Amino acid sequence: MALDRFGRRIHYLRISLTDHCNLRCLYCMPEDMTFRPNAALMQDEEILRLTRLFAELGFDKIRLTGGEPTVRANVVELVRGITHTPGVRTVSMTTNGALLPRLAQSLAEAGLQRVNVSIDTLDPAKFRRLTRWGDLEDVWDGILAAEEAGLKPVKLNTVVVKGYNEEDVVELARLTLEHPWQVRFIEMMPFAGATRLQVTQMVTAAQTQARVEAVFGPLEPVNDGKLDGEARVFHIPGAQGDIGFISSVSAPFCASCTRARLTADGVLRMCLLREYEIDLLRPLRAGATQDDLRTLILDAVWNKPWGHGLAKGMIATNRVMSQIGG
Ligand code: SAM
Ligand code: SF4
Repeated sequence: MALDRFGRRIHYLRISLTDHCNLRCLYCMPEDMTFRPNAALMQDEEILRLTRLFAELGFDKIRLTGGEPTVRANVVELVRGITHTPGVRTVSMTTNGALLPRLAQSLAEAGLQRVNVSIDTLDPAKFRRLTRWGDLEDVWDGILAAEEAGLKPVKLNTVVVKGYNEEDVVELARLTLEHPWQVRFIEMMPFAGATRLQVTQMVTAAQTQARVEAVFGPLEPVNDGKLDGEARVFHIPGAQGDIGFISSVSAPFCASCTRARLTADGVLRMCLLREYEIDLLRPLRAGATQDDLRTLILDAVWNKPWGHGLAKGMIATNRVMSQIGG
């Protein structure tokens, strides 16, 4: 079991399969983003070896992310290897959804259990403006393909950005009336790459909830208002789906954090919003034994930062979001 010095049991690993992406969301990366060469990224065997090690240390919950995980070559076989690793209980993926019409069925057959699809608006022009390159129709088809393939419950991630989509939360929330989906509104967090926009255009979860309630009336808490992962979940009375609010900036959930992140270049990052990192890929390539790697991981877990320092104005700027893995 991997425990940190504050007694938190860390058992949830987010693995970034690549820093590359087929979109350029303006809150995530600059349009002229340069990606790491493939040789600098973990190769399939390296990902599987590290996954086995993490699973032996009690990491039983895995989320695959990026960059865009579905653009990684051989993603279906890689997913199969990860889902079949002894000790791994759940494997999900966060994706922009554009390639799901092609991949959802094969990913489900390879053992993937669930997906979170990012969709910030239902307006095609606004969608293009936010993602710079994206086509809303592809993502919508991707959501339907995921549902059809049984990757359920489908969760939708919406980053709310002032001046871009803060009013669109109403139509996104309306989806839950007819669909058994969880629509999650996320506060924009600051990293390198687009820091100014991320700070000035942030909308709080409370503001978004007020906007939704102004149209649908008071939302009912699900689960007695307890956190579901990082989201506080509600529903519109009578709706099929749920609405989640993720207030990472205004009301962080650090006390209950159980996660670690493995970046696509093989670095273990113990808090999304802190620069503290331990390189695993370099020692692995230099011939480290399983015991050496285990010690590195357990030390990193032990030293997991308590939480982020955004309230004190501390912003981690050593990576953009897509290089960490959201
Ligand atoms: N490409 C995939 C996607 O977009 O779903 C996975 C990687 S993306 C970095 C993971 C999640 O982080 C997405 O839901 C995205 O909207 C969110 N995200 C990106 N930049 C963010 C930021 N600055 N603040 C909050 N969430 C952000
Ligand atoms: Fe790509 Fe996801 Fe970042 Fe958008 S949020 S640019 S889809 S990695």
